[in-house]
Amino acid sequence: MKNFAEDVIIEVFEEIKGTNPNFCNCEKCRRDVIALALTKIRGRYACSPEGEIFARVEQSDRQVRADALFAVMEAMDTVIKRPRHSEEERS
Ligand SMILES: [Zn+2]
Repeated sequence: MKNFAEDVIIEVFEEIKGTNPNFCNCEKCRRDVIALALTKIRGRYACSPEGEIFARVEQSDRQVRADALFAVMEAMDTVIKRPRHSEEERS
């Protein structure tokens, strides 16, 4: 159950990552987006014990996917503006 949100996030991310030409698709940025999106979507469901909401819904549930899509897009935007790899890798 714990990984359900992550599965949905990764699935949505794989679907939309190619739509933004500004996104650096390296492993580090990819992981950052997924981690950020997960934090966001968990915050969204904070009033429920974690996992319960995800346990009740099917993976295809439209509301969860819509929330995941929104979280991933926001996370991508954040990572595009502040890519954390640049300082480490370019120095
Ligand atoms: Zn990168």
